[in-house]
Amino acid sequence: MSQYDYIDIHSHLNFENFDADREAVIARLKEENIATITVGTSVADSKKAIELAEKYDNVYATVGIHPTHDWSQAEFVELDTLAAHKRVVAIGECGLDFFRLPKEATNPAEMSLADEIQQIKMHQGQAFARHIEIALKYDKPLMIHCRNAYEEAISIISAYQKEHKLGHKLRGNMHFFAGNVEVAKKFLELGFTLSFAGPITFARDYDEVIKNAPAGMIMSETDSPFAAPIPFRGKRNEPPFVKEIVKKIAEIRGEDFETVQKQLVANARKTFAF
Ligand SMILES: [Zn+2]
Repeated sequence: MSQYDYIDIHSHLNFENFDADREAVIARLKEENIATITVGTSVADSKKAIELAEKYDNVYATVGIHPTHDWSQAEFVELDTLAAHKRVVAIGECGLDFFRLPKEATNPAEMSLADEIQQIKMHQGQAFARHIEIALKYDKPLMIHCRNAYEEAISIISAYQKEHKLGHKLRGNMHFFAGNVEVAKKFLELGFTLSFAGPITFARDYDEVIKNAPAGMIMSETDSPFAAPIPFRGKRNEPPFVKEIVKKIAEIRGEDFETVQKQLVANARKTFAF
């Protein structure tokens, strides 16, 4: 038997959105027997995630630099040190985000738009590779953020797995998964799990993937403070709202609620080894 009733595998309790009442939110989590993984998106908030994980036993941490954030080599040296911490259960969020690329060249006299976009993609790819190396060094999974770049992420991951003969030692989770059944299949074949957030409660685009994924490869998340599920839409999202995600996953799959609830907790504990 697991000690938790639910696990929200991706939240940002470290963000300032929770500065006013963080203690109260975590107390509610504890009351309801819910655990969460608080995700770092920069060196500073990765440190904050670790602080929370040290303080509360139902809060775990990840360390990483979000793909839309700039980075330096020095920051990766720091991240490498943080990654060793025993409360850090994954590396990320990291990955690729080609959703917000520039539409006009910043400095057309110096660089064309196409070259600028190429440079941004390369910069993100380099950061992704650094996270992969840290994950391999500490034998921890990746927490991946991927937007408008699924094929590129698949080719980077599979190249690593093949070239270095790593197999599924290089592993992780696709957070806020929004790809179709075909894309999902490719990540599942690479050994990567898929997690789903608030939008599954109000958009039907995720149903086919949720129905078709193996029971042992899916997880629930809130991505709080963002993207609150029904009936909390428009409000600040919080980890306890993960219950709505679990309910919806059971409903979409047409499976018994308690069975799905237990399975998702077991999947999270297996993926993140706690
Ligand atoms: Zn996130």
